[in-house]
Amino acid sequence: MSLSTTTAIKRNPTRTVQIGSIRIGGEHPIALQSMCATKTTDVQATVSQVNHLAAAGADVVRIAVDTKADAAALAEIRRQTTANLSVDIQENYRLAAMVAPVVDKIRYNPGHLYHHERNRTWQDKVRFLVDVAGEHGCAIRVGINCGSVDPAKRDKYPPHDTVHPMLDSALEHAELLDSLGWTQYCVSLKDSDPQKVIQVNRMFAQRRPEVPIHLGVTEAGIPPQAIVKTRLALEPLLREGIGDTIRVSLTVPAEQKHLELEAARQILDDLSAGRTLDPAVANQKGLNIISCPGCSRVENKVFIELARQVQQATADFAAYPISIAVMGCRVNGPGETDQADLGLWCGPSFVNLKRGHELLGAIAYEEIIPRLRHEISVLISQRFAQRRP
Ligand code: SF4
Repeated sequence: MSLSTTTAIKRNPTRTVQIGSIRIGGEHPIALQSMCATKTTDVQATVSQVNHLAAAGADVVRIAVDTKADAAALAEIRRQTTANLSVDIQENYRLAAMVAPVVDKIRYNPGHLYHHERNRTWQDKVRFLVDVAGEHGCAIRVGINCGSVDPAKRDKYPPHDTVHPMLDSALEHAELLDSLGWTQYCVSLKDSDPQKVIQVNRMFAQRRPEVPIHLGVTEAGIPPQAIVKTRLALEPLLREGIGDTIRVSLTVPAEQKHLELEAARQILDDLSAGRTLDPAVANQKGLNIISCPGCSRVENKVFIELARQVQQATADFAAYPISIAVMGCRVNGPGETDQADLGLWCGPSFVNLKRGHELLGAIAYEEIIPRLRHEISVLISQRFAQRRP
């Protein structure tokens, strides 16, 4: 990767938030985070991965919990590790009451507070989360994600504007938490487009300069391209003092998740030494493959291999500005493929193939690559017939 010399890191004076044994915000070091890609109910594998990530430098390790069985497993995982643990809660927000006693942070996604108990307001659900977090000394992260943004915010703006719905949602939740007297929270605003990550985090930091921010590019994909995308977003923000914790999301096998920490550490070390990505790299355009890093929700473990195959099988289309999204599950797959030209999200025995919002079909794993290549060719012939690169 080509680097050039520029200025070093400075920090915004955000307030301090305690997450287990560490503090983030203000003068505290920028914390590194990662997430387990093992099944949460596989206690042995998850403990092993938590310890592996902590040994590689993770200050906080996130674990997804979607069911009571996951929550019970998390209690056992807690007994077997001293790492700082964050729980990832999606639709089933009530599980927070089961896991708060054993974790250090609760991450919730405002866009997922609409699915369960529809007659209960999202404000009520956040009050519930604050109550359980307060009772057990947990921090909270309001985790906004471009592919699953609060529908009420999304519908306020034209479809091409994905930045303002995220910003509004973050500001609204910060305001509610403030009104509840809750200060132990941070916010993340993630998009798969580095420029949007920069834009939305700058706007949030300008409006709420005291709130600690967790930075990352969602679905950055496979290294080394994923690391380049993450650098493109994080370097300018960190140089402006924005960012108290970071994650580099990589689509890699579970046993290689330590690469996320190595990449994050390298970004911080390079910034401290005044080295940043060469602007020539930043301006490169062409085929953009977005893929999630995988987590316990992955529905078929061949997902990581599929993402790699997509990268290899599309190499000859590299010059075309087309985006392809590859997602591991039904929780975030359908929404987070919407913005891509072609999207794949994995089911247990088939891959859902989309073109924009349109579902083209559920395709067998062994047939998806040739079908994807066919769809790319169709797209290119329609969109770029007049100007072949
Ligand atoms: S898309 Fe699904 S499998 Fe991938 S990281 Fe998100 S929740 Fe996990």
